[in-house]
Amino acid sequence: MKRFFAAALFIGLCMALCACGSGQVRQIQRADTAMGTVIQQKLYTVSDTDDAAEEIDALLRELESGELSWRLETSEVYRINASAGAEEGVSVSESFAALLERCLEISGDAGDAFDVTLGPVVRLWDLDSWASGERTGEFVPPDGQALEEALARCGSGRLRLDGENGRLYLPEGMSLDLGAVGKGIALDRILEYLQEQDEITGATVSVGGSVLTYGEKPDGAPWRVGIVNPQKTSENMGILSLEGQWCVSTSGDYERYVEADGVRYHHIIDPVTGYPADSGVAGVTVLTKDGFLSDALSTACFILGSERGMKLAETYGAEVLFVEKDGSITMSEGMRAVYTESLYTESH
Ligand code: FAD
Ligand code: MG
Repeated sequence: MKRFFAAALFIGLCMALCACGSGQVRQIQRADTAMGTVIQQKLYTVSDTDDAAEEIDALLRELESGELSWRLETSEVYRINASAGAEEGVSVSESFAALLERCLEISGDAGDAFDVTLGPVVRLWDLDSWASGERTGEFVPPDGQALEEALARCGSGRLRLDGENGRLYLPEGMSLDLGAVGKGIALDRILEYLQEQDEITGATVSVGGSVLTYGEKPDGAPWRVGIVNPQKTSENMGILSLEGQWCVSTSGDYERYVEADGVRYHHIIDPVTGYPADSGVAGVTVLTKDGFLSDALSTACFILGSERGMKLAETYGAEVLFVEKDGSITMSEGMRAVYTESLYTESH
């Protein structure tokens, strides 16, 4: 009997050593929240610890509290917004100045449909709080005068960024809101981190409506990213099959909204009207190698609608898929190559 236990112990030890020593791949799954959304990680690793998942969570918390939050006093955006009106401007980090420059470039190319200075209008609608249930009761849209006043305090063209000297001049009453690109920036930071971790062989990380794929699955199968059906959000209308590293961002009128008197007020604002954008689109998915770009373009394309949005995506070499409010789909060639329909009929 003793000999049997000794043998079993010996075999058990060998197996444990093989699993670690032979570089066997195991999966870590983790869900957390940051930036007002759910973060889902699936990592394939030869390491026997879950450190990578914890470090990714920490990295996202730091991105929110140190850089992007407009609520937390510790962030760069908060500090910048608090400086509005200061003649001497405010110092900005090199990395933040570079992000802002990219935002301004997209604003220019999108005919100002994309505008990260919409803070005053976004706060006036406060759709995040209504959509999350933080605010309850009867929703009343902002009145016309309040909206006009808030709109008058917006406009990327009014910002002055002196990248060389690291200074930003934000006119009185203005404020930045990087909600349209925050999740994409998060994907870029996660990608940088993963590229430095030799033990990670593959990963998918979803930050709300933005998904990063990286490396490969142990069985070599492609990554599968679902496209939500805007008319029935519990279902996917199609699947993207992706090899290796990609960023996929979706903007939809079903993501954050409140309904009153049969009207859906969602969180993507047309800077011309100050109202939720009404371009005929219910959802836009953008596929690129770059998280910032996929997130920025998904928001801009939603506001522009399929015809102008398709041209904008083309300018940046991005693949795009539009779902119109009537359920019909328009997509670029490269998107068609990776898309498999699951429920809907394609109209183009
Ligand atoms: P996207 O289409 O990518 O972006 C829509 C968002 O962009 C809007 O919500 C608005 O913020 C902004 N926007 C609207 N119109 C335009 C436009 N024309 N041009 C440019 N930008 C526009 N949500 C919460 O409920 N609670 C939180 O505490 C919270 N904290 C956050 C902290 C950070 C650092 C970030 C990045 C996001 C946070 N959010 C929070 C979510 C945020 O407010 C947005 O709702 C979210 O980022 C929208 O992402 P999306 O992918 O659904 O939409
Ligand atoms: Mg976006």
